[in-house]
Amino acid sequence: MSLVSATSKPLVPSRAHYGFRPALCHNARIMTATTASLVPSVNRQFVLAARPAGMPKESDFRLVEAPIPALASGQILLRSMYLSVDPYMRGRMTGVRTYADPVNIGQVMVGGTVGKVVQSLNPQFQLGDVVSGYWGWQEFFVSDGKGLQKLDTRIAPPSTALGVLGMPGMTAYFGFLDICQPKPGETVVVSGAAGAVGSLVGQIAKIKGCRAVGVAGTDEKVAWLVKDLGFDAAFNYKTTENYVEKLKELCPNGIDCYFDNVGGGVTDAVLPLLNVRARISICGQISQYNAAKPEAGVRPYVFLLTKQARAEGFIITQFMDRFAEGIPQMAQWIKEGKLKYRETVIEGFEKMPRALIGVLSGDNTGKMIVAIR
Ligand code: NAP
Repeated sequence: MSLVSATSKPLVPSRAHYGFRPALCHNARIMTATTASLVPSVNRQFVLAARPAGMPKESDFRLVEAPIPALASGQILLRSMYLSVDPYMRGRMTGVRTYADPVNIGQVMVGGTVGKVVQSLNPQFQLGDVVSGYWGWQEFFVSDGKGLQKLDTRIAPPSTALGVLGMPGMTAYFGFLDICQPKPGETVVVSGAAGAVGSLVGQIAKIKGCRAVGVAGTDEKVAWLVKDLGFDAAFNYKTTENYVEKLKELCPNGIDCYFDNVGGGVTDAVLPLLNVRARISICGQISQYNAAKPEAGVRPYVFLLTKQARAEGFIITQFMDRFAEGIPQMAQWIKEGKLKYRETVIEGFEKMPRALIGVLSGDNTGKMIVAIR
């Protein structure tokens, strides 16, 4: 990781390095006396420095400083508290447009964020309000308030807006329920089962009366799925030689639903075990994200044909207008003790590159988040 700022000034990743200036009180009704505390004048951001070949490296990112402009009327200043770390960020680094624009070299890395209002010239936002949004890998952000969601921190910890009550939670909820349409008694296999999305999918499968079988990358993750989350069975794909035999053993009645987070060899092994009218929800293909060319694998159509099965990809944004339905249901399940969630929280803004490499390497259990104190 390069610690060189946009102005080529060496950056020490410490809050002590910040310059501070007094808050400007443009509007006395909004900016009360208590707001005239010190606010920072310098923002730290991670920009994309290079397009990675294979697994990203810390040197693919550059930590830079940028001035924080004085607020105009209607604007707020947000201080980031939690930054989301997601596998899709690897795709944004490639320079290829998929379902979203890539990040350009020199551009601030994109991502979901939770932050606190530290200055406000917008009557709709008060000092101390906690909001979620999409302002990316930076410590501060000036916003006009558009696209921000105010969070009620009495209901759930703010970090959950990046996980179980945010995009990954909704991915599990709609990607599984809408696409797989599980029925009680059916067998559901989840790959990437100990991650943010997968760990929720298996538990929703249990809530719906299904047999949940998970695939994950360590014995600790496998134990967590079965002992803590209530999966019926799980296996470690890194230490299992024959995935087909293992899946046959764990799914004696075949597979009715497959929630695919990873693709590759695990998915190849699921295909011959599908039951008639099986449903596959294609959520992610993380085993291929660092590959220069997709790995050759089993051709799926013959299995879909003979089992009259359906495989459907989705991008979570297609369900955005239904989040108001999914988030309260997930919150209710948490309250009732039917749904558990876990977060792997890394402290320190400067750890963002390492955290992204970590999520692509399996360092996380549940949702990967970077916290800024
Ligand atoms: P996550 O599962 O919390 O983290 C990624 C996990 O992938 C790692 O912890 C690692 O766990 C596993 N992994 C890494 N390399 C792998 C490989 N070669 N083979 C198998 N597993 C590997 O991430 P998430 O945010 O919940 O996302 C899960 C998947 O859903 C990703 O593919 C992501 O791109 C996708 N997604 C799609 C949408 C959509 O709109 N379609 C939305 C959100 C997420 P192990 O220790 O088990 O290897």
